[in-house]
Amino acid sequence: MQKKPIKIGQESYSHQMEQEIYQKMKERTFVLIKHDGVAKGLIGEIISRFERIGLKIVGLKMLLVDEELAKNHYKVTKEWATNLFDKSKKAAEKNGKKFPFKDSIEYGKMIQVWNQEYLREGPIVAIVFEGPHAVEIIRKMVGHTEPRQALPGTIRGDYIIDSYDFADRHKRSIRNLIHASENLQEADREIGLWFKKEELVH
Ligand code: GDP
Repeated sequence: MQKKPIKIGQESYSHQMEQEIYQKMKERTFVLIKHDGVAKGLIGEIISRFERIGLKIVGLKMLLVDEELAKNHYKVTKEWATNLFDKSKKAAEKNGKKFPFKDSIEYGKMIQVWNQEYLREGPIVAIVFEGPHAVEIIRKMVGHTEPRQALPGTIRGDYIIDSYDFADRHKRSIRNLIHASENLQEADREIGLWFKKEELVH
């Protein structure tokens, strides 16, 4: 059955136009529901938030991660380590705390080892979502890396409390339920790392 056109102001947007926008703007991005998200019973809640906004699942699996995959997913690059270092240092200083680390690469390596351990704590869910501006929209819905700073309404702001300071003192990653690719280049790399071509639908 043909869908009725949607009337918005003077213009009417037909289903065909919606499809055209979808086809032109569509992107694919990679999401991981980390083990704390799985253990808290949040798989359905997280997926439904993305589905409700109109993003489509084109690949999905639950798995236990081996050492090689964890290492490949969380690589230390100079750019990533520098950003991470600056972000964490700023957060510490804002809270009147001394940031005890000096070298961004050393700091990055330490966090990535914790991240690899976090990824291997238990079963996780890997998903590829497709939709217009999927990378940007999913990052916005996921929220700030540090749940303490994540706004209410975002996944990290609504379902977990943790902070850089607390996590660093306990020598573990920030627990923030979910990973989502930061940009299109990262999305391509991560989709290729986690999924075989034939595991994705069109
Ligand atoms: P994301 O893209 O928001 O996940 O953030 P990043 O790519 O910067 O960091 C990857 C993961 O490392 C985060 O999701 C956290 O679990 C962890 N992490 C990042 N920064 C810190 C930090 O300063 N301290 C600790 N303990 N963990 C961190």
